[in-house]
Amino acid sequence: MRCPFCGSENSQVKDSRPSDENSAIRRRRICSDCGGRFTTFERVQLRDLIVVKKSGRKVPFNRDKLSRSIEVALRKRPIEPERIERLVTGLVRQLESSGETEITSAEIGELVIAALRELDPIAFVRFASVYRDFRDAGDFQSVLRELASDGGGGREAGDDFRDSDDNAIDKKF
Ligand SMILES: [Zn+2]
Repeated sequence: MRCPFCGSENSQVKDSRPSDENSAIRRRRICSDCGGRFTTFERVQLRDLIVVKKSGRKVPFNRDKLSRSIEVALRKRPIEPERIERLVTGLVRQLESSGETEITSAEIGELVIAALRELDPIAFVRFASVYRDFRDAGDFQSVLRELASDGGGGREAGDDFRDSDDNAIDKKF
């Protein structure tokens, strides 16, 4: 594993333990050359996923990017890191088991929005407001209405989202 600090490929595992309810192995490593410490995770990967951007460009799915975008939405919210980790694992499993190798960034965004809606209303609004690329207060109100409704009627804002150009979500996944 290449050291993220100096680029050396010599590192030693100092500690190895199960993580994320035994769905991952967490390893603490130390670089033999610069002494830098970093953590790696080993996880089951059922399928190699490709994210299709709005432009049509394809990039490998990156779990860390997904995880970071969710962590940003949940910043300072009373949700334990383990719970976030489980959420991310659940989303990745959903994506991997969807039967499709290629998924659009918009599909990922909508999955995250649906998951955050269940988990935390503040994070839901934060995420939805960024990823649906809000242009005016009306967009914000439609998300609040979606939050207030009990499912079913909530797809309108998502449809708007898919039609909008140059979407922020494209840059994230
Ligand atoms: Zn190093």
